[in-house]
Amino acid sequence: MALIVQKYGGTSVGTPERIKNVARRVAKFKAQGHDIVVVVSAMSGETNRLIALAKEIQANPDPRELDVIVSTGEQVTIGLLAMALKEAGVDAKSYTGGQVKILTDSTHTKARIQSIDDEAMRADLNAGRVVIVAGFQGVDPEGNITTLGRGGSDTSGVALAAALKADECQIYTDVDGVYTTDPRVVPEAKKLKTITFEEMLEMASLGSKVLQIRSVEFAGKYNVKLRVLSSFQEEGEGTLITFEEDPNMEKPVVSGIAFNRDEARINVTGVPDKPGIAYQILGPVSDANIDVDMIIQNVGKDGTTDFSFTVPKPDLARTIKVLEGVQAHIGAALIDGDDKICKISIVGVGMRSHVGVAATMFRTLAEEGINIQMISTSEIKISVIVDEKYLELAVRVLHKAFGLDKG
Ligand code: ASP
Ligand code: MG
Repeated sequence: MALIVQKYGGTSVGTPERIKNVARRVAKFKAQGHDIVVVVSAMSGETNRLIALAKEIQANPDPRELDVIVSTGEQVTIGLLAMALKEAGVDAKSYTGGQVKILTDSTHTKARIQSIDDEAMRADLNAGRVVIVAGFQGVDPEGNITTLGRGGSDTSGVALAAALKADECQIYTDVDGVYTTDPRVVPEAKKLKTITFEEMLEMASLGSKVLQIRSVEFAGKYNVKLRVLSSFQEEGEGTLITFEEDPNMEKPVVSGIAFNRDEARINVTGVPDKPGIAYQILGPVSDANIDVDMIIQNVGKDGTTDFSFTVPKPDLARTIKVLEGVQAHIGAALIDGDDKICKISIVGVGMRSHVGVAATMFRTLAEEGINIQMISTSEIKISVIVDEKYLELAVRVLHKAFGLDKG
């Protein structure tokens, strides 16, 4: 008998029929003798609907009140699921974040979990009940309702699993696991049986939308056994996120390819090549609370150099404005930006022990005539920035070049 936390995403609870399906699945696990805590998202589309509603009243919704509004989505689902379980003859009880006492800081709309009180949930589990908890929400020390950021129910699920020392945290979603890349772009993409925690963290931060990145960080910090599965399939092992490489498996060097269209590139051309210049450029950007991702500085010649970096697309105009404010001071010849770019990354712990991975990546792109604008590497990933019109082509040829379509 195990203690299992199951998290169901918005599409999995998107209609009353689907909620009844979730109840059937939960009842099945319960009948096998397991203790079950279920975490649910709002019904699909509901959070967007609530945000739009708020914006009809206030263009820039008050964060505290926005949390009051959007947290209702999950409150509806917990009630409906508890009823569906009772209809199926299973005793169940719903909890909002505040009722559990999922304590967070007071950063409305992106609060961080500080502690979880497991007492009430344990009492219900001991009494044979299924515990159903609203994802995405908590309560701050003053009793205000808080939410954890979009996609935050994943983090609720993993955090509850950590607090309850659950044997496994199962994330049920509309895909049956983590794939080598997005199957909508590469139909030959294969489901991974396992992926290491480090790889998953990279994939999540590089644009794979399967798990919210904070949930992966949480799983790593608290050693939570995490599995991604489909709520639409009866059977299937999904993808297990492991903490070690499986020594028995001959894994490919590259495990997956992630991509995103969310960044823009800034070029600062013709700046004096002297100490402090990177700080003079990036200092004001950071002071404006803009996240910088990839950074490149050329080798200087004639005493000047070029400096490029990427920022989130919505921050492009603001970044240029900030830099124009300091352009004279820096002594830059030109400041411009490009938002028609994308980032493509290959990820794999196998890169640590293999050489030539970068060469294969660059050759493959060169053969298709795809120009690489920026490169960055870490121990287990290589990212490139290319023109966004090449995104699909680049991901497809790389997927093939690294043998990922062979499974
Ligand atoms: N309902 C929230 C959202 O749509 C949280 C979640 O689904 O994880 O972002
Ligand atoms: Mg989600």
